Amino acid sequence: MSFQNPVFIPGPTNMPEAIRQACYMPTIDHRSPLFGKILHPCLDGVRRVLKSESAHIFIFPSTGTGGWETTLTNTLSAGDKVLVARNGMFSHRWIDMCQRHGLDVQVVETPWGNGLSVNEYEAILKADTGHTIKAVLATHNETATGVKSDIGGVRKALDAAAHPALFFVDGVSSIGSMDFRMDAWGVDVAVTGSQKGFMLPAGLAIVGFSAKARAAVETATLPRTFFDIRDMEKGYAANAFPYTPPVGLMNGLKLALEMIEAEGLENVFKRHTRIATGVRLAVDAWGLELCATSPDVYSDSVSAIKTPEGFNATDVVTVAAEKYGMAFGVGLGEVAGKVFRIGHLGSLTDAMMLSGLATVEMVMVDLGLDIKLGSGVAAAQEFYRHGS
Ligand SMILES: *Cc1c(COP(=O)(O)O)cnc(C)c1O
Repeated sequence: MSFQNPVFIPGPTNMPEAIRQACYMPTIDHRSPLFGKILHPCLDGVRRVLKSESAHIFIFPSTGTGGWETTLTNTLSAGDKVLVARNGMFSHRWIDMCQRHGLDVQVVETPWGNGLSVNEYEAILKADTGHTIKAVLATHNETATGVKSDIGGVRKALDAAAHPALFFVDGVSSIGSMDFRMDAWGVDVAVTGSQKGFMLPAGLAIVGFSAKARAAVETATLPRTFFDIRDMEKGYAANAFPYTPPVGLMNGLKLALEMIEAEGLENVFKRHTRIATGVRLAVDAWGLELCATSPDVYSDSVSAIKTPEGFNATDVVTVAAEKYGMAFGVGLGEVAGKVFRIGHLGSLTDAMMLSGLATVEMVMVDLGLDIKLGSGVAAAQEFYRHGS
């Protein structure tokens, strides 16, 4: 594997040199006003990226998965009913976590490649007149299938049913790359991590709690210690964590937020849409199809590409790594061996993306697929020339 090449896995993503430098810093007293100068800009910057006026932001030394656990354990009690769709590996793993915490999980099985069904959510919520469902879960961007779901639509379904359930959204592979509107969509907990849109190494779980979710903490009884947001709140009030914070990572996050805001959040989204569109045009030129079944669910942060029947899609990833020193994503779970994934989120330019498309084209020709060298690259080039 070459350290010169960009990576095209859907997280961890490429790190701008300045962010790497920001993570690499001398030891400071992590219970001092100096740490507060890193902490508070991080909390405020994350709140703006979530498009929230007043969310309570918490940053834990953990990963996105720890963000899920923070969400569930702070707001729910054993036996509480939750509603959630399964349409890929990440929603599947969230369901598994709910079950292991003793929640009563109503799963809406959804074909992998589809977005979650807002209509099914709405019908279930309307039928739940006794309001037994305590929380509705949704994965904004299924990283396994390259599928985005309609989070604003789920909020409308909750409202149409006049249902008081909390609304939790996994935005690990969308926040900071694709439009996310915590307040407008009435999201009660938004979950993300450091290693995707924020261009950092793994190591931070980042969550935003609405006032309603914050209030639920007082009555929820699932056990929590490390992830208790009330301990974190007390720490923040004294420019500290309840334990030792990963100061370098937080310093990197502070810079990542500054970089996102300097580019402009909407411009970051537009760049992701443009780069993703070039990838989709290349896939089309190759005569291949996405796992995502319709344009309204195409993800701007990752594309899962189906290979022909009888071909092992994982070979693309293996040969790309071994022969060309470039990393792409394998298929996970139900679509293992059937798709390979191109991650196109975080710190990327059109030119970087073209290098990824050119490489994966060579790999597919090496593996005997009926693809013309340059076909996908040309389709993306033609778009990138005009696409800004
Ligand atoms: C990456 C990812 C996660 C898991 O995050 P970790 O940081 O690996 O724990 C969860 N959900 C989605 C949608 C993801 O893409």
